[in-house]
Amino acid sequence: MKLRWSFRCYPTSEQERVLARTFGSCRFVYNRFLAERTAAFQRGERMSYVQTSAALTLLKKSPEYAWLQEVSSVPVQQSLRHLPTAFRNFFEKRARYPSFKTKGQRQSAEYTRSAFRFEVGNQRLLLSGLGRLKVKWSRPVPVEPTTVTVIRQASGRYFVSMVLDLAPAPLPQTGEHVGLDFGLLRLATLSNGERVANPRYGRRYERWLAHAQRAVARKEKGSRRRMLAKRRVAKIHEKMADCRQDTFRKLAWDLVCRYDVIAVEDLNLRGLGKNHSLARSLADAAIGSAIRTIEIKATMHGKHVVRIDRFYPSSKLCSSCGSLHGSMPLSVREWTCPACGRRHDRDENAARNILAAGQAVSARGEDVRPA
Ligand SMILES: [Zn+2]
Repeated sequence: MKLRWSFRCYPTSEQERVLARTFGSCRFVYNRFLAERTAAFQRGERMSYVQTSAALTLLKKSPEYAWLQEVSSVPVQQSLRHLPTAFRNFFEKRARYPSFKTKGQRQSAEYTRSAFRFEVGNQRLLLSGLGRLKVKWSRPVPVEPTTVTVIRQASGRYFVSMVLDLAPAPLPQTGEHVGLDFGLLRLATLSNGERVANPRYGRRYERWLAHAQRAVARKEKGSRRRMLAKRRVAKIHEKMADCRQDTFRKLAWDLVCRYDVIAVEDLNLRGLGKNHSLARSLADAAIGSAIRTIEIKATMHGKHVVRIDRFYPSSKLCSSCGSLHGSMPLSVREWTCPACGRRHDRDENAARNILAAGQAVSARGEDVRPA
């Protein structure tokens, strides 16, 4: 199965200059053809990749744009390939309309097989136009990657992200099943009552972030100081994201070791941001990302994730006697079932219902995403 592994890398100052030009060329090509495609779209036409590719070849030949030939042609061509994907995601309602890339945001350049060389074993990575790149290999890469993307985050950190085709490594079956209820207060509650706290960056990072954001607002627009202040804001955002991802990975690994079937509530991420508070939308995005992390790990290690319809009344159903109750506002953390008298923790009860639904689905052999 295809997986993405990323590693921190440290380009030399000369490589940084080449990368900056490469990112710039990729951005220019992406934005130019996004504008052309948009114009075509407004005329009611569609532009194909082949058309844009032919136009790029012509563009490169004109003296005005000769600088496009100064960097490796592969990442530039790849950024052209990313456009149809962005449009497809938009047409299939998975994403917003593609937007222009700007210099201040995360930059990337994708190298395909013809533009890099990777030596498995001694872990040497050579990229076209850059030479050997110094990478912090946090674990050995067992196969040759299919693509290598060099990323420069908004804070200035560099990463290489590799797509690897790896054989699944099944873990021993345990015969155990679990249900998970994701929430706003806690990240998740397991059907056995275990609780998984949200990543603990909370208040401290929020204060840093607010402070850093105020610093940006005080700086003159377009100044170097403002650029540096923005970089500090980006750094805090990246730290929070790293912290979150780390929590998700640990949870995912723990779950796939202990359980064969993991039932979760399916979030409708398409509706994300609609009629929702900002906090709720951010939490939904984080939960979606946690579920994807669990699914990838499960597939890799021969376990199953079952998604339960989000309209399944997991909170209103008594997991002991099965009687269905009326509305259950979010403020109700604990309740007693009037039918059987059992006292419930709201989230644990929901997790048990999700587990039961998951077992029913997995027993029928439907919707279990196979390895
Ligand atoms: Zn009951």
